[in-house]
Amino acid sequence: MTNTRAAELLSTWETGLAQPPSGRALLLHRVARPDTGGGTPSAEALSALPVGEREADLFTLRRALFGERMQVRLACSACGEDMEFDLDAGELARPTGTSAESSVRVAEDGWEIEFRVPSVADLTAAARHPEPRRALLERCLVSAARHGVDVPADALPEAVQRRLAEAAQEADPGADVTLAINCPECGAATRAELDIASYLWTELDAWARDVLLDVHLLATAYGWSEPEILALSPLRRRYYLELCADV
Ligand SMILES: [Zn+2]
Repeated sequence: MTNTRAAELLSTWETGLAQPPSGRALLLHRVARPDTGGGTPSAEALSALPVGEREADLFTLRRALFGERMQVRLACSACGEDMEFDLDAGELARPTGTSAESSVRVAEDGWEIEFRVPSVADLTAAARHPEPRRALLERCLVSAARHGVDVPADALPEAVQRRLAEAAQEADPGADVTLAINCPECGAATRAELDIASYLWTELDAWARDVLLDVHLLATAYGWSEPEILALSPLRRRYYLELCADV
């Protein structure tokens, strides 16, 4: 991690402390998407991306900041056994140049349906609705017709809605990272979704608190300022800390 990166991450962390999970996810996404010449993407532009694209960006950021290996803890849904296992952030990161499809067409059994792949903004808005699933469908449905007759979103049969949910997942497979783990004690399978934004936030929070503690210890011992301490490479910082501890 470069030194300017450390200062940038600390200010991201500080801003995020007062924010709800959706705000923290957006802040992390900002850090994940480097300035590609056209300036830093706006919050609106980032929120309009398909959900899977953001998740993949966050896995890429995670790999860059804290490495490939992610430790995940999960309680068995049957016996409650605490399970710990490793995930590879690289496998879930975004290969360069790829992106999810943004709209999908389903044509079968006389139906002709077109919808947008849900974006972060769609999910956030739908979550505030008393019926999130319906709200999401209404937001993302572009058009639906059966045998040429338009059908409104609230009149789509359950089976058609399920088919659309499948089609959305196929179009944006990174949107749901679902883990299925077999319990070593009882053999039952536990399924859980991995929320990379909150996982990464927790790690950033622990990292930031460690850095502030280092600053505190070195400032106390040597009288250096925060920017001076952050400008040290992690290796040198560690070395000075060891010297302080030896005294
Ligand atoms: Zn179990």
